[in-house]
Amino acid sequence: MRSVTKYDVVIAGAGPAGLATALYLLRSRPDFAARIVALEKSRHPRVKVCAGGLIPKTMLALRELGLELEVPAVEVVRGVARTEVGDVDMYRGDPLCTVVRRDEFDASLARAARQAGLEIIENCRLLDVAQSQGEVRLTTDRGIFETGLVVGCDGSGSRVRASIFGQAKESVGRAVMTDLPVDPERTPEFLERRYRFDFRCVGAGVSGYAWSFPCLIGGRPHLNLGIYDQLPPHRGGDGARTGVLLEELRRAFPELALEALGKSAATFKAFPIRWFNAAERFTRGHVMLAGDAAGVDPLMGEGISCAFEHGRIAALAIADFLQGDADALARYDRELHQGALGRKLRMLAFAARRFYGPRHRWFFRLARISRKAQQVGVDWFNGAEHFDELPITALVAKWVGAVLFDRPVR
Ligand SMILES: Cc1cc2nc3c(=O)[nH]c(=O)nc-3n(C[C@H](O)[C@H](O)[C@H](O)COP(=O)(O)OP(=O)(O)OC[C@H]3O[C@@H](n4cnc5c(N)ncnc54)[C@H](O)[C@@H]3O)c2cc1C
Repeated sequence: MRSVTKYDVVIAGAGPAGLATALYLLRSRPDFAARIVALEKSRHPRVKVCAGGLIPKTMLALRELGLELEVPAVEVVRGVARTEVGDVDMYRGDPLCTVVRRDEFDASLARAARQAGLEIIENCRLLDVAQSQGEVRLTTDRGIFETGLVVGCDGSGSRVRASIFGQAKESVGRAVMTDLPVDPERTPEFLERRYRFDFRCVGAGVSGYAWSFPCLIGGRPHLNLGIYDQLPPHRGGDGARTGVLLEELRRAFPELALEALGKSAATFKAFPIRWFNAAERFTRGHVMLAGDAAGVDPLMGEGISCAFEHGRIAALAIADFLQGDADALARYDRELHQGALGRKLRMLAFAARRFYGPRHRWFFRLARISRKAQQVGVDWFNGAEHFDELPITALVAKWVGAVLFDRPVR
């Protein structure tokens, strides 16, 4: 018979969502360290297909957790958004994004979580989850775990979600990326410390955008190039869709040497992004979902700040649950729907339907009209100074003040 290991809480997956959950929990309740464990199928530092863009909201979360960014990073202060109806330039001098490599960043989070007392069992793949009468049983390739509470932080292809919440795939987007070595003296992304978003692929049927981010790989300057598609058609297969996305990525950056892109599977990486769907539940019985497993930003596919925010909210629920609060898990679900993050994700879903819909040109034209309105939008998206947590009335007042009366945005 296989051995059974028991913990009060099991965090499935040690990416940003799982590690943020543990870090927030152990910051307020270090005495819970012996009662929780994280199970991770890989071993840090592990590869994660991601552009590694940390928006200011993520930097605020790191500060809140008392963590320094200890990994190589490129700070971006300028942005260009290219659309079919013209370009939008974003510049105010303060950081728009900090670009890291996810293997290094996630490994640094894992180190911090271990220092805070978290036990992480690596090379431990979760295979199945089942619950009955308040007990959750996790089958892994390293044995059986039993617990009173599981937090599913195992990413877009979450096994926890598939086992407990079902396999629905309609809220899953797709992103494809590649890394290109560049000469920083000749590359605007490095010279101007800027990133570029290119929404012109919307006209070709892609519900998303192509991007270029400056980054450092092993200390050497690279561009991370990629394309996000929120609504890849489920017919035609992933392979055919990837071909379309790679073609659009090449078209977005004709000045770059991307001829080899797509010639072999080694030239790019593709990965799903599950986005927030307000119709879904994020708690069932004694199982919660966080990060990509729950669903992140539908408009841009930005998920690291969501992972931290889910982690913060999950930690509050876990602490209450362990102290006998029977409503704590239902409250987590309510908070994800109705709290500041739920509101933000719903608004991003609304924006995605407009900017990636049949009248996208009209909405891009509208978005280009006012520079002040763009600043409000960028500050809100980036969560600079917790701007995204303002109630909707305060946000509208900011917008009206800035756009109609030329008041400062912040
Ligand atoms: C191409 C691409 C570019 C992106 N760029 C950005 C960006 O620039 N900025 C941004 O904010 N977001 C970006 N995202 C989204 C971002 O990567 C995710 O939102 C983020 O990683 C979510 O964190 P997470 O912890 O929920 O999931 P993950 O980072 O996927 O972590 C899940 C963890 O669970 C582990 N795991 C999975 N299955 C199992 C299992 N069965 N058993 C045990 N462990 C398991 C995995 O190994 C992993 O460590 C991008 C995504 C893609 C695909």
